[in-house]
Amino acid sequence: MTVTRLLIIGPPGAGKGTQATRIAEHYGIPAISTGDIFRANIKGQTELGKQVQAIIESGELVPDSLTNEIVRDRLNQDDAVSGYLLDGYPRNVEQVQALEEMVQGDSLNAVLLLEADTDEVVARLLKRAELEGRADDTEEVIRHRQDVYAEQTLPLVELFEERGILVRVNGLGEIDEVAQRISDGLTAKLGR
Ligand code: ADP
Repeated sequence: MTVTRLLIIGPPGAGKGTQATRIAEHYGIPAISTGDIFRANIKGQTELGKQVQAIIESGELVPDSLTNEIVRDRLNQDDAVSGYLLDGYPRNVEQVQALEEMVQGDSLNAVLLLEADTDEVVARLLKRAELEGRADDTEEVIRHRQDVYAEQTLPLVELFEERGILVRVNGLGEIDEVAQRISDGLTAKLGR
């Protein structure tokens, strides 16, 4: 069995979720979004949801201890044996280390960086705010999430680049156009 372990990374609003679904389908692996898991728990008013709601609505990161635990559980589910596409995790250096300990040498095969400039992603998120009304899509929180990304997540890009697994893709343009760039980039890196 071919196991494919991927990560999609990029600023909030770059379109990771949209593209993640397609990539995951293509490789026959589950797309695992920590943001989606948290939002489902908030909606379901679970204990976890109650713990993270205020943090997420402020645009801060949920504590690593909680986030790492959630990912560990998710990766232990049966459908992750074929691999997975992580979306939104790891998001800082500590989470990269935690993931490495969890998977014990089964490292990521490729990391897809979906690039888009701040003005564009902020505009997209403001539009999404009108359509979906996500609680963390107010202008102030959107800007804060961009800062958190730049400070905590962007440094990971260099790390993955040094490991030779980074695939950079321009996230501007039509969804299909971006999907084609991703497909070309991943095929070139993975050979499949
Ligand atoms: P976006 O792509 O817009 O940042 P996500 O759905 O990935 O949205 O994440 C929404 C929020 O969920 C984040 O702002 C953060 O509060 C929380 N979150 C998601 N993933 C993580 C993570 N790996 N570590 C800590 N907090 C996270």
